[in-house]
Amino acid sequence: MTSTELRLRTCIGCRQRREQDKLFRCVYGDRGAVIDRNGAGRGVWLCGVECAQQALQTGAYAKAWRVEVDRNDIEEMIRSQVCAGTERV
Ligand SMILES: [Zn+2]
Repeated sequence: MTSTELRLRTCIGCRQRREQDKLFRCVYGDRGAVIDRNGAGRGVWLCGVECAQQALQTGAYAKAWRVEVDRNDIEEMIRSQVCAGTERV
């Protein structure tokens, strides 16, 4: 078994390409912005909370999702990420 082909994704916050399993995925749907690794919809990838906030400032979500993004939705998503404790160092 080889795993030489790592799936690289670009973080929309810092714009760095990283391995998929080091990022978390966020999709925008009926419930607003949610962390969802496998869910349907257009996903964006983020390294962590800092990048999530950075992307908010640059308007990267609206560009990636092609929708008007409610700032509160993103902030709530960031909070839920912090509470879930899924951000590992
Ligand atoms: Zn990042």
